[in-house]
Amino acid sequence: MHIPTLREDPADAGAPSHRLLLRAGYIRQLTAGHYSLLPLAVRVRAKVIGIIRQEMDRIGAQEMLLPVMHPAEIWQRSGRWDTMADVVFRVTDHKGTVNVLAVTHEEAFTVLAQELNSHKQLPLAWYQFQTKFRDEPRPRAGLLRVREFTMKDSYSFDLDAAGLDMSFDRHRAAYLRIFGRLGISVIPVEASSGAMGGSDSTEFMCPSEAGEDLVAHCPGCDYAANVEKATSALAEVADGPGLPVPERFGTPGVRTIEDLATGYDAPAGRQIKTLVYLLDGKLTLVLMRGDHVLNEQKLADATAAAALRPAQPEEIRDALGALPGSLGAVGVTHLPVIADEALRGRRDMVTGANIDDAHLRGVDVGRDISVGTWADLREVAAGEPCPRCGQPLELLPAIEAGHIFKLGHKFTKAFGVTVLDADGQRVHPVMGCYGIGVERAMATIVECHHDDRGIVWPVSVAPFSVVVTVAQSEDAESAAVGESLYEELAAAGIEVIIDDRSERAGVKFRDAELTGIPLRVTVGKRGLADGVVEVTERATGDTVRVATGNVLLHVRDALAAARGPAAG
Ligand SMILES: [Zn+2]
Repeated sequence: MHIPTLREDPADAGAPSHRLLLRAGYIRQLTAGHYSLLPLAVRVRAKVIGIIRQEMDRIGAQEMLLPVMHPAEIWQRSGRWDTMADVVFRVTDHKGTVNVLAVTHEEAFTVLAQELNSHKQLPLAWYQFQTKFRDEPRPRAGLLRVREFTMKDSYSFDLDAAGLDMSFDRHRAAYLRIFGRLGISVIPVEASSGAMGGSDSTEFMCPSEAGEDLVAHCPGCDYAANVEKATSALAEVADGPGLPVPERFGTPGVRTIEDLATGYDAPAGRQIKTLVYLLDGKLTLVLMRGDHVLNEQKLADATAAAALRPAQPEEIRDALGALPGSLGAVGVTHLPVIADEALRGRRDMVTGANIDDAHLRGVDVGRDISVGTWADLREVAAGEPCPRCGQPLELLPAIEAGHIFKLGHKFTKAFGVTVLDADGQRVHPVMGCYGIGVERAMATIVECHHDDRGIVWPVSVAPFSVVVTVAQSEDAESAAVGESLYEELAAAGIEVIIDDRSERAGVKFRDAELTGIPLRVTVGKRGLADGVVEVTERATGDTVRVATGNVLLHVRDALAAARGPAAG
């Protein structure tokens, strides 16, 4: 078996899963974001898929397999040809026809749903395991962020919103069972629906230093939300009456909130920070309290903007007549203004005057600024009070292990899918979609289950349950006993591998630990003299001596104990 373990940690692999999967001979990178899975990884992947498949089948979902390459037309029809343009690979064939390499399959499954006709065919859930491509600009951390990966994606079709709620809850429960069986501890959190365009979504977040997301979590009441969605309870602010009209004052050299706070007696909480964004190409002023941070996903969600970026200084000067540092929204009516809720009702505030090196004081937000849209745009900070119970929130880095969405009618309307309801009326079914990245799940398991000697796979996903290590393979009796134990375990249906390489015993022990096989049966000359072998648990390092005739019984018990009573 091709298991090319490395003696040293590979360079430029930071996350434990990246480092260990490379070092233990599970994966190799072909090019950035595209990995080859070697034999051990293929076995783990099959286990992960098997667990997900069982739980999908258990909630009545039906497995299908749809193409990866889609005609551009269906992506144009849904509108995502444009809105997901920056992450979708487009492929041109020799006739010049442009196709899409799918990053998700709502369009293709909805095309199949065009054959539905009656409410009696609902509810339905369809799923697949299929390769996805994502034009990820910054692939990183091994299997955690890649450009090509396997996804379990499922899609539900229901007659109405109440039906969707039930499909969503069934998937939520199935996901909790899946992650439990995979050994991934997750927190279900409220999340942004982002480019999926749905109304309601839950992410399954695994707290981990390798995570790229941030989850606001309350230890008091278990409130949990992605920072893209999380809120906190802010203290009430009592403002004075302020000035009858805003008053301009000179602020030479002031560029930042801090400059203004220290030099001009304007604490950050009394300042209005004016940011300028391009939302789908339209210049927009975004107002935040000086001590608050904008969360760009919240801005995207509040405005339904598909493309969003901060404006360049020259674009800002053309529009406002000043450079960042002295910007403000007082008197601005030629550009849309969107303001964070924390500014509502505030008086006696300080903001830029749209003249370089000048600011305004005594600004009354309601009186002086034409706010077109109010929204929650603020990113919560650690220690702020929980919106439900008031205890300080903690911010945890986390890996998104799964994500489920309520999509509504968006796709069934775009593709003209209707069914007859009980009254004979044609209605558009409502959809949900549900995803788990298979290779990311493998990496997340490693993030959760490793130590300084290597991977520690849970039995449920281990590539093999047992490795029979023949310590001295040149010794004929050791080789024969090892071989017969291997045959006995294999015949009993236990997934077993034998290490009879002509390597030093220490190398074999190190590889067994690195690759993370749950049990090691060590056949050595000295033990055989007493008629025993050693059985070592990878997770605990505990070793017991077992008579050669009792190995099968002992291994069965140890694996059952390691699986635990909850295993399915
Ligand atoms: Zn709370």
